[in-house]
Amino acid sequence: MPAEFPEFRLGTVLATSFTATLTERQGEAVERVPTPQRLTDWLAVSGLAVDSCTAAQLELARELRESIHAAATAAASGHALPAAAVHVINDRSAQGRAAAVLTPDGQRRWQLGAASAVEDALGVIAADAISIIAGERDGKLALCASPTCQAAFFDTSQSRTRRWCDMNTCGNRQKKARFNARQRKSPDLP
Ligand SMILES: [Zn+2]
Repeated sequence: MPAEFPEFRLGTVLATSFTATLTERQGEAVERVPTPQRLTDWLAVSGLAVDSCTAAQLELARELRESIHAAATAAASGHALPAAAVHVINDRSAQGRAAAVLTPDGQRRWQLGAASAVEDALGVIAADAISIIAGERDGKLALCASPTCQAAFFDTSQSRTRRWCDMNTCGNRQKKARFNARQRKSPDLP
């Protein structure tokens, strides 16, 4: 993997791992799928391996990603869902033809069409987004407490009090920022 590309931030929820391929939306945004090949890489580590991806398919993916972000943010804030975003999510879901298949050892795998693999993969992601936005799954949509992030994430903690989309990045940075602010306010006097 070439070092010049930012690493992925993979979570346990497919739809919000996907929206996390663009981070720091409210600060200096980091695009983690800058090329079709990087989307192919992301799909592979997300259980949706495809042989190839075109620039047009990457655009389709980004459009879905930002639509999921918009709809999930609205849902987390208790606002009405943006109609344009809902439209894109539904289109991608309807046009995907992935089949869920059971492996001999009892795992679910997604079987994607040879000619429509990226579209099928996007359909799986769209359906995953629908299930969390519709409140069908055990968990709660929330917004990351980092002011430069504010990403929508799916909180499956028992207490439903998770504050950050990702503990290792946003969570740590916030803790450090608060620590530094305290240091500035009360400098150690000689
Ligand atoms: Zn965050």
